[in-house]
Amino acid sequence: MADAAGEHTMGHVVAVIGAGPAGLFAARALAAQGARVLLLNRDVKPGGLAEYGIFLDKYKMKTGLRRQFQKILTDPRVTYVGNVTVANGGSLTVAELRELGFDALVFAIGAQGTKYLGIEGERLPGVYHAKDLVYHYNRLPPFSEQSFPIGRRVAIVGVGNVMVDIANYCVHFTDCDAVIAVARRGPFEKAYDDREFEDVEDAFDRDLYRQEIARIRPRLEAAGQDPDELLRALGQRPEPETRTRARLSFRFLASPRRVLEEGGRVTGLEIEETRLERKGDRISAVGTGETSVIPADTVVFAVGDRVDPAAGLPYKDGLYLTVPGDEAAGAYQVWDPETQRPMDDVYVVGWARRASDGVVGRARLDAETGIKHVVARLATKPPRPGAEAERVVASVTDMLKARGVPAVPYADVARIEAVERDRARTLGVEEFKFASNREMLDVLRG
Ligand SMILES: Cc1cc2nc3c(=O)[nH]c(=O)nc-3n(C[C@H](O)[C@H](O)[C@H](O)COP(=O)(O)OP(=O)(O)OC[C@H]3O[C@@H](n4cnc5c(N)ncnc54)[C@H](O)[C@@H]3O)c2cc1C
Repeated sequence: MADAAGEHTMGHVVAVIGAGPAGLFAARALAAQGARVLLLNRDVKPGGLAEYGIFLDKYKMKTGLRRQFQKILTDPRVTYVGNVTVANGGSLTVAELRELGFDALVFAIGAQGTKYLGIEGERLPGVYHAKDLVYHYNRLPPFSEQSFPIGRRVAIVGVGNVMVDIANYCVHFTDCDAVIAVARRGPFEKAYDDREFEDVEDAFDRDLYRQEIARIRPRLEAAGQDPDELLRALGQRPEPETRTRARLSFRFLASPRRVLEEGGRVTGLEIEETRLERKGDRISAVGTGETSVIPADTVVFAVGDRVDPAAGLPYKDGLYLTVPGDEAAGAYQVWDPETQRPMDDVYVVGWARRASDGVVGRARLDAETGIKHVVARLATKPPRPGAEAERVVASVTDMLKARGVPAVPYADVARIEAVERDRARTLGVEEFKFASNREMLDVLRG
């Protein structure tokens, strides 16, 4: 694997934690600068949300990304180890990794925490947070092994691209009758892309939309918005050729207050009506005090995520701390609030730096920008002989072995994927994924 790193080469050795798009592109950028990279990943397989988030039938996009990732993962300077969690109580801790002699640690672990709104009923059965459901239907263990029943009427809180994906899943892959997307603000503040919405156009109920615009017309006009603009735009959109049975509608100007239940079963989402208030460039929603109930038996919160506080990096309000007030290198460097100093050589990139921020291209750009700062810092440190870099990498794999962690190198991921491709061919389906780590590890045991 690591030949380039043999006795006669000199360089730096960096651990990248997390092998989603940000971690993979960070590894590529580091390797291109001659660094030796150890890539540690919680999931057995690499890819992060590119593998377990991007919608089920976007095969072309996923295949293209997998191809790029494969190139990175077979670079002799990069050693991938899956099924390894770096966290308090994980396979390794941040403190342990810092002791092992890496020149830098780059955390690209995404946004694995949940953003709770703090409303009653948010943790009832039948109430999901989008990421968990997305991981479930994309078959990421252990979510793939848990049950996420979807009822007849699904209220999705949020109006971004993730809402569109969840609606897509509900109307095309489950038995639901109705999906209602709930927004605190109005139709002009929607956050999803129209291109993405095309995937659910066949479920979108235009009559209900017109009725909803009529209902909120006075409040839009009071905020200086023109409802007729929305109706004209609707009229210009081509009608879909086919229709799903399930209907998708919107409930605008509605702020979730609590999830209602009877006998432990979800019966609806209580909302407070809002009106729009312009503050400079921003339009915000202000509660009117009037409440009503959206009947629903399933509620999904698609309101973005937070980073995982248990990872062991300094954390506050859903984010890891980076150097305050520094827009350049410090924006990527982790800040230790106890010592009031940057944490030496510890960085964050991608969604770990800015939770739920944008598409793969943006995560890649963020990783590449972060790595420019890491490389500038490495240039101030003496390079090490290749053999020493190898010893640092081996110290981690040895530690994992000693702890009995069933770590999965990339060659083994490739074996698992080959078996999955065979299974897909046999079943005559586009894609097959094992739903549990146990099944994946069984393949390796033969
Ligand atoms: C539902 C959904 C649909 C999307 N659809 C699209 C789309 O169609 N097109 C598009 O371009 N973008 C899409 N995106 C956005 C895209 O997935 C993200 O921009 C991108 O994946 C973020 O990359 P990341 O590497 O920062 O984080 P992630 O992709 O989340 O990767 C994080 C990685 O870190 C690992 N990890 C987590 N915790 C630890 C730990 N403690 N120790 C070790 N490893 C850890 C995980 O196993 C994972 O591999 C979608 C996102 C979502 C949520």
